[in-house]
Amino acid sequence: MKTVDSYHFKDKKALVRVDYNVPLDEQFRITDTTRIDASLPTLRKILSDGGSVILMSHLGRPKEGPEEKFSLKHLLGYLSQVLHTPVQFADDCIGDQAAEKAAGLRPGDVLLLENLRFHKEETKGNEEFAGKLARLGDVYVNDAFGSAHRAHASTAIIAGFFPDRKMFGYLMANEVTSINNVLVSAKHPFTAVLGGAKVSGKIEIINHLMDKVDNLIIGGGMMFTFIRAMGGRIGNSLVEEDLLDVAKSALYRAKELGVNLMIPVDTVAASEFNNEAERRTVQADQVPDGWMGMDIGPETMKNFAEIIHQSSTILWNGPMGVFEMPNFENGTRFIAESIADVTQKGAYSLIGGGDSVAAINKYHLADRVSYVSTGGGAMLEYMEGKVLPGVAAIGV
Ligand code: AMP
Repeated sequence: MKTVDSYHFKDKKALVRVDYNVPLDEQFRITDTTRIDASLPTLRKILSDGGSVILMSHLGRPKEGPEEKFSLKHLLGYLSQVLHTPVQFADDCIGDQAAEKAAGLRPGDVLLLENLRFHKEETKGNEEFAGKLARLGDVYVNDAFGSAHRAHASTAIIAGFFPDRKMFGYLMANEVTSINNVLVSAKHPFTAVLGGAKVSGKIEIINHLMDKVDNLIIGGGMMFTFIRAMGGRIGNSLVEEDLLDVAKSALYRAKELGVNLMIPVDTVAASEFNNEAERRTVQADQVPDGWMGMDIGPETMKNFAEIIHQSSTILWNGPMGVFEMPNFENGTRFIAESIADVTQKGAYSLIGGGDSVAAINKYHLADRVSYVSTGGGAMLEYMEGKVLPGVAAIGV
């Protein structure tokens, strides 16, 4: 994989696609700098080689041209502070001003371009627009994994203008390597732990992982579609009736392939969808009418943890229950802790997908697992086995 480590940036202008789609408050202050901070190692490498940096990003979803609330100029203060240099700004990502500022960059300088999505050509993947951006720099670096599943001008098309001078930044390289550790070269036993609300959001991951894993653990709201498909009583639990056949085929395929597909045997059920609701632990296929399963039960926790503890590779996506409510978070917390424990004993664990990332952070376990993906939708599509245009454009 070609990364910034394979290139010496001295006197070169590196055009770096970053994901600075950060949340801003009403006064346009950044409320979470994670995405900017994550890009710093790549930028520091380029600058310390004696190169200069031209930063390209999108922010939000502007509809028609420039909008104050989506301007990247709000990031200048923080960026200048963390990079220890006054970051320059171009009010438009293409055009004369951007070209002049880019041409004037000296080693160690940083130029931030205005929001790419102020031009609709960005999301359309317009080649002419990509060419205009490409002219600003000597080398193209993609460090925006969160946008890698889109064939946009700055994430994929632009790479075509740099046939021998395109590479991954560290963040993107880490995301790609970590998922390949799991999807391509997993050590066995390999266990996937899938949860979350719906089967529909996870079925492609289930299908793609089925012939790779030894164990497939299913928890969260989606377990009830499986339990219903097997003829269980699920009360008012979350269910996708239109996916019962899909769940049945997954169960059948697991059997055919010899995959140990584990469905919860017990659940903590609630009288209503509310933290203060009355609670009862019941058999997962015997949820009383009017009750809904909100978390995995103690017997299930024990079964799942046993398998996790025997695994050498673990992929976790999706909470085991309604972990936002303290009374229904035990299953998710216990599974997160089990994954952290087995990682400490040498297993490789990848946490990918929004809510399991939120859970691992909630329980302060992020530094006790192998890798926590920031990739969101891009990570999900990668897990589904899709080719990500931003990754393919550089090549692994
Ligand atoms: P997803 O985005 O599909 O990964 O789903 C995450 C959401 O699933 C979280 O907000 C959880 O509260 C929710 N969830 C997990 N288990 C259940 C359940 N048993 N019933 C309803 N929602 C659930």
